[in-house]
Amino acid sequence: MCMLKAYKYRMYPTKQQIAKLHEKIANQRNDFQHKLTSRLISENQAIALETLTVSGMLKNHKLAQSISDVSWSSFVTKLEYKAEWYGKSILRIGQFEPSTKICNVCGYHNKNITLADRKWKCPDCGASHDRDVNAAINIKKFALNKQNLIGI
Ligand SMILES: [Zn+2]
Repeated sequence: MCMLKAYKYRMYPTKQQIAKLHEKIANQRNDFQHKLTSRLISENQAIALETLTVSGMLKNHKLAQSISDVSWSSFVTKLEYKAEWYGKSILRIGQFEPSTKICNVCGYHNKNITLADRKWKCPDCGASHDRDVNAAINIKKFALNKQNLIGI
């Protein structure tokens, strides 16, 4: 079907329909973020966050889409004000802590990890790691260490 005919018979969504769809997606995202942040805050005394340079990551095309989609900064904002409301702590670690590349079991620094490596095995102690779980354990360790809470 030619473009003109398709337009005539309203085969394409109108600007208004597209705007409505965008609004619906934004509302769903906002709702999801509110539910998740409320749950995280109610179930935990403290939440450790790694400071990420989102603007730098957006320059990486592979990461850009997924970061923009989750609206990381609005998620963190909600987490922060809800922590304040309910007297919970947000602990932050610096962006230069190699949370992904350090084995949480033995501390080995695996410099060969790339973005494509979702799972890896520590060459030193043999522990198997899921990239995100290992990083989360390390972020918790770094954050507690920074607060001098480890070993108490
Ligand atoms: Zn190890």
